[in-house]
Amino acid sequence: MTETSSPTVYGYPRQGPDRELKKAIEGHWAGRVTERDLLDVAAGLRAGNWRHLTEAGVREVPTGDFSLYDHVLDTTVMVGAVPPRHRAVVETEGPLAGYFAMARGTQEVAPLEMTKWFDTNYHYLVPELGPDTVFAADPAKQVGELREAVALGHTARPVLVGPVTYLLLAKPAPGADPAFEPIGLLDRLLPVYAEVLAALRAAGAEWVQLDEPALAQDRDRAVLDAAAHAYRELGALTDRPKILVAGYFDRLGDALPVLARAPIEGLGLDFTGPAAANLEDLARAGGLPGKRLIAGVVDGRNVWINDLGGSLATLATLLGLAGRVDVAPSCSLLHVPVDLGLEHGLDPRVGRWLAFARQKVAEVVTLATGLSEGTGAVAGRLAANRADLASREASALTHDPGVRARAAAVTPADTRRPQPYGERAAAQRARLGLPELPTTTIGSFPQTGRLRAARADLRAGRIDQDAYDELIASEIRSVLVFQERAGIDVLVHGEPERNDMVQYFAERLNGYLATQHGWVQSYGTRYVRPPILAGDVSRPRPMTLRWTTYAQSQTRRPVKGMLTGPVTMLAWSFVRDDQPQAETARQVALALRDEVADLEASGIAVIQVDEPALRETLPLRAADRPAYLAWATEAFRLATSGVRADTQIHTHMCYAEFGEILAAIDDLDADVISLEAARSHMRVAGELAGAGYPREVGPGVYDIHSPRVPDVEEVASLLREGLGGIPAGRLWVNPDCGLKTRGWGEVRVSLDNMVAAARVVRAEA
Ligand code: GLN
Ligand code: ZN
Repeated sequence: MTETSSPTVYGYPRQGPDRELKKAIEGHWAGRVTERDLLDVAAGLRAGNWRHLTEAGVREVPTGDFSLYDHVLDTTVMVGAVPPRHRAVVETEGPLAGYFAMARGTQEVAPLEMTKWFDTNYHYLVPELGPDTVFAADPAKQVGELREAVALGHTARPVLVGPVTYLLLAKPAPGADPAFEPIGLLDRLLPVYAEVLAALRAAGAEWVQLDEPALAQDRDRAVLDAAAHAYRELGALTDRPKILVAGYFDRLGDALPVLARAPIEGLGLDFTGPAAANLEDLARAGGLPGKRLIAGVVDGRNVWINDLGGSLATLATLLGLAGRVDVAPSCSLLHVPVDLGLEHGLDPRVGRWLAFARQKVAEVVTLATGLSEGTGAVAGRLAANRADLASREASALTHDPGVRARAAAVTPADTRRPQPYGERAAAQRARLGLPELPTTTIGSFPQTGRLRAARADLRAGRIDQDAYDELIASEIRSVLVFQERAGIDVLVHGEPERNDMVQYFAERLNGYLATQHGWVQSYGTRYVRPPILAGDVSRPRPMTLRWTTYAQSQTRRPVKGMLTGPVTMLAWSFVRDDQPQAETARQVALALRDEVADLEASGIAVIQVDEPALRETLPLRAADRPAYLAWATEAFRLATSGVRADTQIHTHMCYAEFGEILAAIDDLDADVISLEAARSHMRVAGELAGAGYPREVGPGVYDIHSPRVPDVEEVASLLREGLGGIPAGRLWVNPDCGLKTRGWGEVRVSLDNMVAAARVVRAEA
């Protein structure tokens, strides 16, 4: 009947314990590391991961999950969908140079577009497909990595992006009809997958895993039918390994019965968070009799220890629903740091609540043992886990009575500005005395090498705090002098003291922890170290007051206070899983509310609260979105609504496509919103106007992603387009965000041109 249960994983962090991969790849780009040496480093990291997994008790390791840049890009290579402009690079400079050209572009060719991998902070390269796309199988990477693992004595399960997800993640190729739907290419793509599957079987794969996380999103009948068709076709192949399809990041919903009925041998399901609904759905679909189920009961994208007892109970229920039940993290461990064991500075009280990739592997091994041999076989570990969980629940860190009482006492009135917008706008106009089409920037100014060096010197003790502070003060003075000379109306201090817009605040709030080695891949060779929201959040002392008021003391023009909003403070951190996110957001919002009040009391008249993450944390399933948007917008208003009518609240978002969050943007009730718009020709201005957006808007008029300096006429013509949607009394003039990433040379001229353009357009009015 039931075979013994095995632990497994879908993927493991690629970077290596000390980000060796990043160093090797960037060394290669800089010409210091040869292709051969880079490939050797990569092979060594893969071998190390497999060895670790095997030693920990995983008997079937994943292959093909490794990547030199991105696994969706690897899939593009595997199916032969390299765009023509990059093919030329492959032909002249070889496959690796062509691969990196797709990832990063070259002087001559643009890279593929990059976007978020579902609702994680990992970014993939978007395939470009059109009606003329001809696929051709290139299984070399998948087969090569499988062979490596087999040669090292491992049993391996190749992991591939599934064909349906691959097509759903693609966009129409440049030149193709923008309405072209890549999913229509499925019948052309399936033979390529068939060829890859045959090659993997020939290379020794008993099982292969096809990842279909796109089926954990809302999908219409046509897509579900496409999925049914795909797996009917692949299932009918005779020359193939056993097929396991994995869906994760949410419940499979209507796709679950489709996949359960498909002629494939196994299914991987997520049972964490909202995906726990898979359990009932699986029972309703009649289970997976005679098939293999991989139960993702350990959260693969957050850093908390598992409730092993609870997971064993879930697993026991699942035993009755499938022929064989294996245990895994819910998704690839790519989304968590490598090893908690590398953290030496962590508060040990908190360390026992955390599990990174290595620790999660140990958890799935324990669970599989418990499932196969009975809980008695893992009694010691279960008892320790119960004690760890209990210590978290009882800790003063996770339960600060003062914070809880304050959050519980929040009333709806606390989340609404007392005056209607019209009254506020008049009061702000009177106080600020700004011209029509006021000019400003989004917050940061170029972060010079001198600043980064000073931060390193301070950390290393080569300079003292006073010397560092003097440098910050002088940076602030110089950006103020520049802005005054340029004629900008609302100034910023330039954020020279901030390493990162979330980390800076996380380091100053109780309840947040920082790691030393907790790197997670964001894209390519870029890794981030998200802070961990571990406990109740409070603000021991003001966080931004000193430098903001210092800046204001240096100029008669208004200086904008600059804060990061509650949703973004959660989105770019690892969040608590022991209370609803709404509760955590409310705590962060209250801390920010105090900061806003302090800024206001010190005479700051304009305060910007950045919320670039509002849209990106939108739940995958539409049914979950209204609740999310309700708490997210409420948290923003809680942070910002305690001010007087004549204090102007700004917010900023890094994109111009709002779609379904337009109503939520309005619900923020910010007096001014700035957005990215330069590349989309201010389309957003028209969209907001069409939706009747009543407040002030600053669509970016200078594209910061490009080193190009816009001339006066170019900015002026964007402003005129903006005026087509937003009247002059409500239109602001600002660049897109990200001045921090540019050099002073371009920034100086571009902002001068921006101010000149504002003057030109004002004169026309
Ligand atoms: N105030 C921040 C800056 O200008 C905003 C960053 C962002 O939009 N992501 O850098
Ligand atoms: Zn931005």
